[in-house]
Amino acid sequence: MEDENAGIGGPVTTINFEGNTYYYNKNTNTQPPMIPTTISSSSLWYQNRGTHDYSLARGIVSSGSLTNGLRIANSGTGYWYWRGGDPEDTDNWGTLELINLVERVAREWRRLYPDYPIITSMDMSRKNGGTFLPHTQHENGLELDMRYIRNDGSSGEVDFNVNRGDYSQQRSQALIDLFQNESRVYKILVDSRANLTGSKIQIVSGHHHHFHVWLYDPDGNN
Ligand SMILES: [Zn+2]
Repeated sequence: MEDENAGIGGPVTTINFEGNTYYYNKNTNTQPPMIPTTISSSSLWYQNRGTHDYSLARGIVSSGSLTNGLRIANSGTGYWYWRGGDPEDTDNWGTLELINLVERVAREWRRLYPDYPIITSMDMSRKNGGTFLPHTQHENGLELDMRYIRNDGSSGEVDFNVNRGDYSQQRSQALIDLFQNESRVYKILVDSRANLTGSKIQIVSGHHHHFHVWLYDPDGNN
């Protein structure tokens, strides 16, 4: 995780667990202790985790919450995070799995296509999840929006209602393929005009200036 190198919260994110407070700290490169595989019955959500990952996607994407979420960094290898008009640290939260997946895809993108622009991540979830208007989903840290890729070397926006001529189907398909190759990706929601193909692609309205990457819920609640 390259997380926590920016934002109003600085390089530290607080983790709360069974009355204890731990920290992910980018400056000191420290993370919370590993979650023991034998823990109290009050923390059934964490049973048998045995990892350093305290993030939890609760409920479902359209009615859920996020516990101990983490922020994606403002930029990293192969990507940058565009928050638009939203205040810092309000819309870039997700499960560790989601953040790691984006970073992994971005690193591969950079390696495979060094001449392409960096990819742009957009809305994820609120810090504690829950309602995130105007989205109908994005409530439990398992989803993020991303810009389509342009044909002019810029990482700016493609909006099929505005500047369709800037769209690169080939480059966007290359990025979609990287996401589709990730086993934890459940669906990718796109605009019909994007002409993107693949087993996880679903064409929906409302995605004229971004596509939506949706992970499997670890609880099986998709
Ligand atoms: Zn979305």
